[in-house]
Amino acid sequence: MIYLNGKFMPIEEAFVPVLDRGFIFGDGIYEVIPVYSRKPFRLAEHLMRLQHSLDGIRLKNPFSNEEWRNLLEQVIINNDGEDQYIYLHITRGVAKRDHAFPANVPPTIFIMSNPLLQPSEELLKSGASAVTANDNRWIRCDVKAISLLPNVLLRQLAVDVQALETILIRNGFLTEGSASNIFIVKDKILLAPPKSNLMLPGITYDVVLELAAANQIPHEIREIHEIEIRIADEILLTSSTKEIMPITLLDNKPVGDGKPGEFFRRLHALYQEYKATHMRGHTTDRLTS
Ligand code: PLP
Repeated sequence: MIYLNGKFMPIEEAFVPVLDRGFIFGDGIYEVIPVYSRKPFRLAEHLMRLQHSLDGIRLKNPFSNEEWRNLLEQVIINNDGEDQYIYLHITRGVAKRDHAFPANVPPTIFIMSNPLLQPSEELLKSGASAVTANDNRWIRCDVKAISLLPNVLLRQLAVDVQALETILIRNGFLTEGSASNIFIVKDKILLAPPKSNLMLPGITYDVVLELAAANQIPHEIREIHEIEIRIADEILLTSSTKEIMPITLLDNKPVGDGKPGEFFRRLHALYQEYKATHMRGHTTDRLTS
């Protein structure tokens, strides 16, 4: 069951008018929230990022955090699966086509949830392949905008050569993936590009850095030059739906020794452990140790 503008209904019965500004202009934002054991993961952080995206497009948040919590609880109850991922989408509503913001138009609010499937063991064992491309998106990549045409075209470059992801480079430096954040490992240090307007501040990115800090894994947040990506010992991809994945082939060349490395294994295990204790158990405590 999906949620659309105040009502739950089967997705087949959900329609929006063609003049919706999401359809006409891509004028809206979205969030993707993983759900483990029917509990949303890092909901406060996702709601904070949602607010940041809404502020970025000057759209009023239609709900308080408490209202979001209650609504998302209903979404989870109304859908199958212990593990799900919620897709939440808000547009500037339906109005006569005009670039300028319409006055007094209610936003369109759409939420769906689907089963969350873990990346396959096989892929985690072999690692995935990626290609690189010039990051030609707009310069507000910190806003999770629904207008994803550049991301779609960039991701297709990977799909065209049976790769998983396209790693983006802007002015010689790593930004992120077309739908993920990217870390590299060099000389036994985990390196992460700094958050800026040029990348989406990933919730999984934050968790990985917290896990590194809490477990004495050497790490540094700094600009990463394209050359460093090409000579990295490991490349890691993170996102809410893919969690942590090793990239073992980049532009058809092996990354390091071409196998998932020790940083991947360690961080992947820590991530699973974190989920097991914080999501599968009954504590909502933040990471403390
Ligand atoms: N960067 C981009 C462009 C994304 O689309 C995503 C997620 O889909 C991410 C990064 C990772 O963010 P998160 O870890 O919050 O899923």
